[in-house]
Amino acid sequence: MANPMARHSPTTLLVDADDTLWENHSYFMRVFDRWLEAMLARGHAPASVHEAFRIEEEERTQRTGYGSRNFIASLIASIVRLEQAVDDELARELEELGEWIHEHPIELKEGVRATLETLGLRHRLLLVTKGHPMEQTRKIARSGISQHFLATEVLREKDPAHYEDVISRHALSASACWMIGNSPRSDIIAAQGAGLRTVHIPHHTTWELEHREGPCAPDLLLDCFADLTQHF
Ligand SMILES: [Mg+2]
Repeated sequence: MANPMARHSPTTLLVDADDTLWENHSYFMRVFDRWLEAMLARGHAPASVHEAFRIEEEERTQRTGYGSRNFIASLIASIVRLEQAVDDELARELEELGEWIHEHPIELKEGVRATLETLGLRHRLLLVTKGHPMEQTRKIARSGISQHFLATEVLREKDPAHYEDVISRHALSASACWMIGNSPRSDIIAAQGAGLRTVHIPHHTTWELEHREGPCAPDLLLDCFADLTQHF
């Protein structure tokens, strides 16, 4: 439970959710790999399949945001881009796989529960995620760890303007806030753009879009979430 005394700490920890607190990206990768296998079996070259998806995903995430259903829509749109039509059976299989992602039980990463208990006694904790609002809110509710956070923010995008908005709405000072997450672009580079300090905890798999802006330079680089208690 968040400790009322932690409100007096000068430090606020903003914590990412997907692939920082719980597993997420590997489910998308499993579906992506199944789609890729199907597309290669249909005679497409790997480079053109990847390129079609890159274009569709970039366009769709800007227009309608993130989440498993947008991801499946991008896979299906990529088929249309390549074949000018879509195979109903393949589309149905992808939609079922999208529901599999959507309904997947939350798998907390090692040490997350105990670490949040400790950090919550020392500092204010805010959960800061991005994605489809309903999907993220459901995941947070099912995670069993929401009580450690004073508030939850599901941002449409993690860019400096959205971070500044969170800081301002919670009446925080950017220089006393740390963003903790796995994504170089969303959690580190964008948070630094809003004047926050950062902790990068790389995950074993990270979304390709996240590497577009090259390597990041966090204030702290940690191996695992539990290591946070040694620094905060
Ligand atoms: Mg993440």
